[in-house]
Amino acid sequence: MPRTRRVLFVLLALAAPAGAQGPNASKDDRITAERLGLPKGNTRTSEPFVTRIYKADESGDVLKKQPAGYPFTITADYTLKDGETPRAHEGVDLSSRPEPGQPPKPLDFNAGVYGTVVKAGDGPWGTVTVQVRDGSLLQFLHTSASHVKVGDVVAPDTKLGVTGRTGAGVIHLHIQARDKYGNAVSPDLTFKAGQKKLESKVKLDKPGAADVEFDPDAYSPVKPKVKDKKVSAPVEPEVKWVVEVIGMGGRIDQKLGEFYTYKSASYCEQQWSEANPNDLRLTRSREVALTGGKK
Ligand SMILES: [Zn+2]
Repeated sequence: MPRTRRVLFVLLALAAPAGAQGPNASKDDRITAERLGLPKGNTRTSEPFVTRIYKADESGDVLKKQPAGYPFTITADYTLKDGETPRAHEGVDLSSRPEPGQPPKPLDFNAGVYGTVVKAGDGPWGTVTVQVRDGSLLQFLHTSASHVKVGDVVAPDTKLGVTGRTGAGVIHLHIQARDKYGNAVSPDLTFKAGQKKLESKVKLDKPGAADVEFDPDAYSPVKPKVKDKKVSAPVEPEVKWVVEVIGMGGRIDQKLGEFYTYKSASYCEQQWSEANPNDLRLTRSREVALTGGKK
């Protein structure tokens, strides 16, 4: 396909009006404990892309299991102590309490999305991974058991696993997402994509690509700022890139994905063009300002 057919539009969207889409997704599409079948009263205890301080070993590597009190979110400039390292936490954390006020316990949780299981609770983080319709991966970490096996097709109410503290300090559920190229994306966006039913004609990527071990924080596109051991307050992405296929009359025919880096978005465009050599439609990456910050 000639390169000229693929035109890149870069539009800087106007600031979203108050109450419009926040940094991750609209409120109704967000991951909640309730939508994962966890008891009422459990909440999101950490949001994606905030800076946290982790306990590290002498070489600076983050400890797989964090001691009590770690990791913690900083709210202002923080001076690193020896054996500490900052990272952008890229997932959503949910508490796992049978009832409000009771100590955390391992509890069953549901998939919350339609998809296919590509990882079933193994690895240092006890990860259960579900690939959704658009090929992106929703990863549930720290589980103590899996109710599914690789290849299982799941629906939002399918019991997926049991919360735990595998690779974590405290029993909770950490949910993060990767697009099908391995880039960190907001788990709320993948959760939203997964609300659409799978159709048998949709061919998902080979599980091999999804079955890689990953660190919950190591590959975040958002890097904390550190200067002279001073760590700046939590950072969040300021923009996201929406990749779309444009059809007749400028109509948006298909949304291919949303990304926090332009590089990921253009890679997505390239992949789509290569996979659809006879499709003459254009793709575009649209830059959208993320206003509103944290909730
Ligand atoms: Zn987490």
